[in-house]
Amino acid sequence: MAGAHFSFSKDWNPLHGGAFSVSRDWKIFLFRYHNRMNIFEKIVNREIPAAIVYEDEDILAFMDIGPIIKGHTLVIPKTCYDPITETPDDVLAGLIRVAKRIAAAQMNELGADGVNIIQNNGTAAGQEVPHIHFHVIPRFEGDGHHWNWNAKSYDDPEEMERLAEKIKKGLE
Ligand code: 5GP
Repeated sequence: MAGAHFSFSKDWNPLHGGAFSVSRDWKIFLFRYHNRMNIFEKIVNREIPAAIVYEDEDILAFMDIGPIIKGHTLVIPKTCYDPITETPDDVLAGLIRVAKRIAAAQMNELGADGVNIIQNNGTAAGQEVPHIHFHVIPRFEGDGHHWNWNAKSYDDPEEMERLAEKIKKGLE
């Protein structure tokens, strides 16, 4: 069948049956995938609760349910874009402005000594929710968290130069 297309309504649940028959494992996979796809939209639409700290017409910021450090906040656009390379510049500018304000609030009100701002793109980069978001993570001296920042080295200076040239070409 040419051009077969599946789309999921936000209330669709494969565990409740439907138009096509698949195994239970597939149903569980589809159910999880469907939920993963929509978790931030559900927060935007107030279908699931979140501790919201900031909202304007285009942007929402709320507490991450699994904080790296307590106070960890997510900043998202209300409209879903993903990944960063597909996100309009003005949307990105709005997100980073709000992230900056949240970082300041974490330092001023939570007493954070520093802040990590992180943005993951793709499962290879650790992204779980395919809706662009900035993590704003307050950091405290001696908070015990360590990033697995395992710095490597280039085989030789030419290897680094070659990669730099490729990136420069991509910017042309
Ligand atoms: P990613 O790995 O995609 O960069 O980050 C996704 C983040 O969303 C994770 O830090 C995770 O804890 C958070 N998250 C996932 N589901 C929920 C949820 O239902 N509510 C909230 N508040 N955060 C969530």
